[in-house]
Amino acid sequence: MLSIHQMNTYKPLNVAFTHGVGTWLHTTDGRKILDALGGIAVSGLGHAHPKLTKAIAEQAGRLIHTSNLVNIPEQAALADKLCALAAMENAFFCNSGAEANECAIKIARLYGHQRGIANPQIIVMERAWHGRTLATLAATGSRKAQAGFEPLVTGFIRVPYNDLDAIKTIAAHNHDVVAVLSEVLQGEGGIVAARTDYLRELRAFCTEKDWLLMIDEVQSGIGRTGKWFAHQWAGIVPDVMPLAKGLGSGVPIGACLAHGKAATVFKPGNHGTTFGGGPLVSVAALRTLQIMEEEGLLANATAMGNVVADGLKATLAGVAGVVEVRGQGLMLGLELNRPCGEIVEMALEDGLLTNVTQDCVIRILPPLIINEAEAHEMVKRLSTVVKRFLAKASGISIQAA
Ligand SMILES: *Cc1c(COP(=O)(O)O)cnc(C)c1O
Repeated sequence: MLSIHQMNTYKPLNVAFTHGVGTWLHTTDGRKILDALGGIAVSGLGHAHPKLTKAIAEQAGRLIHTSNLVNIPEQAALADKLCALAAMENAFFCNSGAEANECAIKIARLYGHQRGIANPQIIVMERAWHGRTLATLAATGSRKAQAGFEPLVTGFIRVPYNDLDAIKTIAAHNHDVVAVLSEVLQGEGGIVAARTDYLRELRAFCTEKDWLLMIDEVQSGIGRTGKWFAHQWAGIVPDVMPLAKGLGSGVPIGACLAHGKAATVFKPGNHGTTFGGGPLVSVAALRTLQIMEEEGLLANATAMGNVVADGLKATLAGVAGVVEVRGQGLMLGLELNRPCGEIVEMALEDGLLTNVTQDCVIRILPPLIINEAEAHEMVKRLSTVVKRFLAKASGISIQAA
């Protein structure tokens, strides 16, 4: 329960955890919960990973914060590492996904102004999620999230997802467009993938128009889908890439990476942050990436993602009410044919932490370290609760009829 002194922004589940070990969380009343949420695609290394814990503790004992007014070698090393993994050129570090997207939006606007466009516009997608700051809220495609916060920041043009013709139609009459901002696998939007052919054509079209292609990998990045970044499945390289969630394994850090023309837009004074990319968070992120390599977590995300997805498909085959299992790696969605928010509490009773997005999509984002036995256990617990929910829901509708 929230204290009366906590602002009324969340309706948390009636549970709290004292500690975690790997893919498991321990409740204050002594229960063990299997984590299919991963702190919302954050805790890729699971909980209390010994190598990460050690690195963070050692760095905290040396130096936590200095500021961007001095050199931060740990941040430089992280930038080098991320750019190598992403084939990008440079990085700005911040503290959240919304801030990483703010940085992308500012790059796009300044890029436009530098090219003589006084009123630069960014194309964004229906059902997109980019954050809750004022600019990213305007870029986000959720009226529910926006309602009441008007006037919204202007400069965004919304199009349907996976629809290049809609973008080309805008390009034909609007000469103020400077960028396209999109996820390649929508998370909050319900685990919806962009088609590979669409992404490749969009990449070519942005290049042709001199627009920046800005791929928001805040949720899908850092190995979640089985590649470092989800767009790499399509073999494309974006001009700008916001990152956050999994980057620091729970230590708050975001980044905005840039490539080509986008990499030379900012000059000193254009953007900044007090906390971003400090020694502690940079070490946490760099060590996260190294541990992911040492432990082969990209391959594990693909393999365990297949175990979970195939397992759910098999156990739920033919069950009325189950629409689809979709996604990639360990970013999966299970869509039901009815709103199923209440399944989150039912699952918790059964020892499973999960989440529902877009009312009908159960979202599965476990730690990337999950092992095969745990993946099977996740399938068992999830399919059981889905069947229990659907039986209950259809019982009610029969009674109602
Ligand atoms: C979560 C998310 C954000 C916002 O990140 P915050 O850290 O909550 O500000 C932005 N984009 C995508 C794709 C996300 O999933």
